[in-house]
Amino acid sequence: MPIHEKSLIRPENVKSHESLVVDGVDVSGHWSTFIQSRVVTDYNEALQDEIEALPGGELIHRCWQCGSCTNACTVNAVNPEFNPRFWIYLVRLGMEAELLRDKDIIWQCVSCNKCTNICPRDVNPEGVMKAIGHWLELKGHTPKSPSMAFDEVFSEQIIRRGKIEEGRIIQQFFARVGQPLAQDWLIELVRRLMRHLPVGLLTRMGMSRLIAPRTRNWGAARAAIEEYVAEQRAEQHRALGLPELVEAARREAAGSHHA
Ligand code: SF4
Ligand code: SF4
Repeated sequence: MPIHEKSLIRPENVKSHESLVVDGVDVSGHWSTFIQSRVVTDYNEALQDEIEALPGGELIHRCWQCGSCTNACTVNAVNPEFNPRFWIYLVRLGMEAELLRDKDIIWQCVSCNKCTNICPRDVNPEGVMKAIGHWLELKGHTPKSPSMAFDEVFSEQIIRRGKIEEGRIIQQFFARVGQPLAQDWLIELVRRLMRHLPVGLLTRMGMSRLIAPRTRNWGAARAAIEEYVAEQRAEQHRALGLPELVEAARREAAGSHHA
């Protein structure tokens, strides 16, 4: 490992003798602590290519492991195990099994982009975190995250109509992640909006709940976007070696072409 960080030492790899005397010298406990070396045999040599095939991961190969991203990271400041530099390192070496050990915290990235602003090599580490999170979901290592469900609902509405309507997005998002619409914070938000927003604006918002807003003559743009998205998806799934998803994306592309 090029950079030694205490937080990366796995507790199970730290060994010490509670009671040890060498040549008459007591080296028990702390004095006999050592870190067991690891032997890695299960490399995924395509891992970097797979991450580079996903949006945000394209420039991961530029990383020179300076550690500035981790040093600047908002989440790392409260959880030292959240370590973008280390995950980029694992991806570049193809150490998939090691990466999977952290699969339940990678999604914690809050997209603040501090890492991206400070990176001297324009790697776009925030995008790389997104790409790794996406990769984990596509490969079935983690369930679909709520943020991914939100992105899908948002994009679907834009692609379908060329405009968004916030009420529908919230409603569809909650339905997709299996949460009730009647949440205390949402009820309070609506109550305050009703109290403070001008009547004209409230009326327009109410109307757009009844008749979904759409951009005029959107059909051609919609077909082109759907075709592009389906092509990109098929390309990404092919890079990740997910043949059944490639086939589904191809069918989707063909469908949008003939729609
Ligand atoms: S700041 Fe950029 S170059 Fe440095 S470790 Fe992070 S991603 Fe790599
Ligand atoms: S975007 Fe994510 S990885 Fe980058 S600094 Fe913010 S929380 Fe950390």
